[in-house]
Amino acid sequence: MFLSLRDVTKRFGAVVAVDHVNLDLSEGDFVCFLGPSGCGKTTLLRLVAGLESPDEGEILLQGTDLAGLPARMRNFGVVFQSYSLFPNMTVARNVAYGLECRKWEKARIDSRVKEMLALVHLDKHAEKLPHELSGGMQQRVALARALAPEPAVLLLDEPLSALDAKVRESLRGEIRELQQRLGITTIMVTHDQDEAMEMADSIVAMNRGRIEQVGTAEDLYWEPETRFVGEFIGRLNLLEAPALLAGLGSHGQDTVLAIRPEHVALSNEGAHSGTVRSVAFLGNTMRLGVEAAGQDLEIEVHGRRKRLNVGETVNFELPADRVRRLASSSV
Ligand code: ATP
Repeated sequence: MFLSLRDVTKRFGAVVAVDHVNLDLSEGDFVCFLGPSGCGKTTLLRLVAGLESPDEGEILLQGTDLAGLPARMRNFGVVFQSYSLFPNMTVARNVAYGLECRKWEKARIDSRVKEMLALVHLDKHAEKLPHELSGGMQQRVALARALAPEPAVLLLDEPLSALDAKVRESLRGEIRELQQRLGITTIMVTHDQDEAMEMADSIVAMNRGRIEQVGTAEDLYWEPETRFVGEFIGRLNLLEAPALLAGLGSHGQDTVLAIRPEHVALSNEGAHSGTVRSVAFLGNTMRLGVEAAGQDLEIEVHGRRKRLNVGETVNFELPADRVRRLASSSV
């Protein structure tokens, strides 16, 4: 394995920020740590970076334990949410700085800086100061700076969350393309499921310091193992009303039955009926809030031209092969 985390635990006083995490990354992987605020994803990234040290467990790079190796010796490139560029240095000097610290020769630094700025399409802005650039451009400088010393691993801590939606979208694609072109092993922390699904080869879904599930976006969407993953990635109806659960088999104490909104099938012959409480037309999708058997359900309908109205009665099916049995508590 290229990078391995073995039983990594980090506590802050009584808080267990990272709780016995095990994870393997192959070389060239793009992995996202995804989870809600406080789930421990930033702490886990900081442990890998060497900015924190674990209380238990070990982090291995190509089989070598990184314990005791300070952040600056790890040869990992890090990009934070705040661009943290040196404000009084030009773009080029910002990128060169890490190479000067590593005592690269001047000619080699100059050519590497040029190469890096071309890579992030900022070659025409080399002599500008950071404040003369937009947020998205500053983040690209931060990326060029992190990549310049040819790091073994690239670590991105919410790199897009300070940017506005449009810039965020275009940078998502740009970072992903760059990562693939360079083949650099990358870990990105995000709380944004769309970002993780669009960018990552695999997603590490975290909750309360633990890993709930690791898999591709497709794995996590189609085969969530826990209620947490099912609810965090995409939308989910928990089936609670006995009338809706009838015929779907029992669910034990530790499991819940759930179905995605797009899998509830409207049909005149449907075994269930409900009352439309809300309608949102979203172009390719119509999202309905339906009250059925005393509980609320979300139903998504695709490609339907005719609008449904609030107060209308609809019939629907809960196809048994679309209903998932999920662990109700965290694993
Ligand atoms: P966010 O997206 O809000 O940063 P996160 O998922 O990255 O959340 P962490 O920042 O890793 O979560 O925090 C995990 C837990 O550890 C939280 O309960 C947090 O309060 C706590 N924690 C993190 N850093 C410290 C610290 N330096 N001192 C004390 N507690 C900390």
